[in-house]
Amino acid sequence: MTHRVAIVGAGPSGFYAADGLLRGQPDLRIDLIDRLPTPFGLVRSGVAPDHQGTKAVVRQFERLLAQPDVRFAGNVDIGRDLSWDELRAGYDAVIVATGMVIDRKLGVPGEELPHVWGSWKFVAWLNGHPDFRQGPDLSAVRRVAVIGNGNVALDVARLLAKGPEEMARTDIVPEAAAAIAAAPLADIHVIGRRGPQHASFTNNELAEMGRLGRAVALADAAALAVEVPASDPTPERLRKTKNLEILRGFAANVPGGKPLSVHFRFNSAPLAIRPGEIELSSGTLPADLVITCIGYRGEDFPMGEGVFAVGWARRGPTGTIPANRADSHAVAREVLAWLRERDPKSGPDPMPASIDVAGWHRIDKAEIATGGPLGRPRIKLIDWKSLLDIAQGD
Ligand code: NAP
Repeated sequence: MTHRVAIVGAGPSGFYAADGLLRGQPDLRIDLIDRLPTPFGLVRSGVAPDHQGTKAVVRQFERLLAQPDVRFAGNVDIGRDLSWDELRAGYDAVIVATGMVIDRKLGVPGEELPHVWGSWKFVAWLNGHPDFRQGPDLSAVRRVAVIGNGNVALDVARLLAKGPEEMARTDIVPEAAAAIAAAPLADIHVIGRRGPQHASFTNNELAEMGRLGRAVALADAAALAVEVPASDPTPERLRKTKNLEILRGFAANVPGGKPLSVHFRFNSAPLAIRPGEIELSSGTLPADLVITCIGYRGEDFPMGEGVFAVGWARRGPTGTIPANRADSHAVAREVLAWLRERDPKSGPDPMPASIDVAGWHRIDKAEIATGGPLGRPRIKLIDWKSLLDIAQGD
């Protein structure tokens, strides 16, 4: 008999937890459970479609899925298909790796207007998440307010700013790409409530904004006359100093040379949103679309004996994918210590009918086959019926 571990959520932190477990105890039986018929969570649905290099991490995850005692169980919703109690009863340990998939609220009047979108919903649409088939109506959108000064805000601004040829080799959903290409976009404002010395952009992602084909990046030089906080640890000081240097380069750019402008605006806290405009602490800005990129929250899950959390579900919505590896490995060591104190449970396989790895590979193959001739990595299947039909071999 060997221990059986359920990992709820087949995203990066779930896979890294599986990796950590197998490094310590190679004969464990692991079920990677996901609500979707497809694995990889944030890598498939959250990482920007033009960042294929980041998405390449799935090759490591595929190697785990190829291990004989690792089982993918897709299309299993914990709560609907199997209760948390059944899960705890059926496995020796449960690892919750459900991430954070709900957009945080700004908490200002007008937030519920239809032209206000959260970044998760917006990016999930571009990435073909089957629960987010509908994107914003971009047909009359000229001016966009992107709220937040993190990498997600850069993703959103960049994906709107890039032209069709810059998106041609990505796996963006074609309908979303067409809507962006047809929109009369002119100005994208990336809005920080604090000064540039507090922005959480990483250097490479910020510098990328200066290399866009159809958009010029701009910033107000006066806002950049600031110092990086001396109390910050050295790596943060270096990152922020480099960010200020990149932004000063944007301030030296000449507006109007390209069809679109991406404006970096600082010290501008959102106060209210109205149709066609957003009121900021620094003044009112015309905005036909507002996209909030201010972080995420997660769904509640019951903790308890033998239940462990990893990744964003444990630490909150910060940290890049590689940063989650060390965290998941550390939790995996805790889980192994817990298992060592206990005999494996016996009993029937608790897993209900699910999409297995062969089903996922049928989806994968179909997507790659339609994308290949178009020079794209894949064209995603974006509706539940097609995903399930193809996974089941219909
Ligand atoms: P983030 O870096 O925490 O940025 C969130 C931003 O929202 C901050 O600028 C924050 O401002 C702002 N904010 C929060 N509440 C606000 C409010 N009420 N009004 C106005 N602004 C508000 O998080 P993220 O951009 O969501 O990214 C999440 C994690 O994923 C990060 O670790 C990020 O690096 C990572 N990521 C990486 C990549 C990549 O490597 N290419 C891409 C995407 C995401 P304050 O600082 O003032 O609170």
